[in-house]
Amino acid sequence: MVREILVVGGGPSGLMAATEAALAGAEVTVVEEDKEIGQPDHCAGLVSKDGLQRILGVYEDVLLSRIRRVRLFSPRGRVYEITTADEKAVVIDREKFDRELMRRADRAGVEVVTGALYSPSMSFKVLINAEGTKGRVARSVGMDLPRSIPAAQVDVEVRNFEDDVVEIYTGSWAPGFFAWTVPRKDHLRVGLAAGRGIPKELLKRFIEKNESFAKKSLTRVLRELFGKVVIGGPLKTTVRENVVSVGDAGGFSKPTTGGGVILGCLTAKLAGSAAAGAIRGASLSEFERKWKALYWKDFERMRFAAKIFRNMKEEELERIMAEAYNEGLLDRLMGYDMDLQGRAIARIARSRLARYAVLPFLRSLFEG
Ligand SMILES: Cc1cc2nc3c(=O)[nH]c(=O)nc-3n(C[C@H](O)[C@H](O)[C@H](O)COP(=O)(O)OP(=O)(O)OC[C@H]3O[C@@H](n4cnc5c(N)ncnc54)[C@H](O)[C@@H]3O)c2cc1C
Repeated sequence: MVREILVVGGGPSGLMAATEAALAGAEVTVVEEDKEIGQPDHCAGLVSKDGLQRILGVYEDVLLSRIRRVRLFSPRGRVYEITTADEKAVVIDREKFDRELMRRADRAGVEVVTGALYSPSMSFKVLINAEGTKGRVARSVGMDLPRSIPAAQVDVEVRNFEDDVVEIYTGSWAPGFFAWTVPRKDHLRVGLAAGRGIPKELLKRFIEKNESFAKKSLTRVLRELFGKVVIGGPLKTTVRENVVSVGDAGGFSKPTTGGGVILGCLTAKLAGSAAAGAIRGASLSEFERKWKALYWKDFERMRFAAKIFRNMKEEELERIMAEAYNEGLLDRLMGYDMDLQGRAIARIARSRLARYAVLPFLRSLFEG
């Protein structure tokens, strides 16, 4: 049987693309290798409230926490706390979120087959590759893989639990990236990704040795989770003949933070619509034209800023964080879009802090 549109992967991007294609009149099948949509959950679940609203409309059912404060730790442990006037970010239950997207796909007429692994023998007119970071589909159809780094997380119970703060720890705790704590109703998800070193070991060291984290008084470790964070930005080519890569598989995560739920879904929606158009004879490349018109500039700026951050020495980061806080820039940045960070990055580039970026930028030119 030749399917009109086959979507590989029942994560948020695959389900979003599938729903959009079905609403545009195409016959769509999603194959998901896991038995349950939303399982296993490897995501911290931190997303912008605005982005979530754009995707779901009403979102209360999938909420775990509302974030009102961000606490930034410098490499030497200085603390900078920023309060957001309105709740800018929220933490979602990814299992509930993914299941809600599945219900919507179902209502749009998408066939979702779980416990089904993609096989190259499956026939389709258009393939939407939404396999996340696995890379098996990409390899089999000759598409590139996005750049990613490994991550480790643990869910922990702590005595001193705060339900409205996200913490970011910079420096050697997570070389080349950062560590985080995210509140989930009654416990914390603590994690890190790293460009160098082994995340599981780095996370163990962070939990045992970080003095600020120790003040939370950990009482119990609930579970461990592993995954890969996509940080390289979108692939150079996201469409090849009758195949399109979306979500993490296409590199549609923020290079600055690895957050991929919102931009993954928004761009996947464009892919779904282009796939339905391709069934009617239009070009699938319409996807590339559209996402580049809407998001290219932001992705490029985020990629550039992330590269500079990764190449900063600890003392440079220490200085830039102190100055950004003292000048009120950190507070002001809270007013910018959390997903499309291009304008926030341009604001930093116009500030006096930009001078600290020169050396890391030069170093980034030699980055492998
Ligand atoms: C540690 C960590 C923390 C993160 N925290 C955040 C966060 O706080 N906020 C945020 O926005 N993003 C976060 N992310 C990123 C976010 O999880 C991803 O961007 C998002 O899940 C991408 O969605 P997707 O649909 O593209 O891929 P996925 O959610 O990975 O879904 C891909 C699906 O494809 C299925 N699949 C793969 N191969 C096959 C195959 N061959 N056949 C059939 N099915 C297949 C998989 O089983 C999976 O269900 C985090 C990622 C990690 C690793």
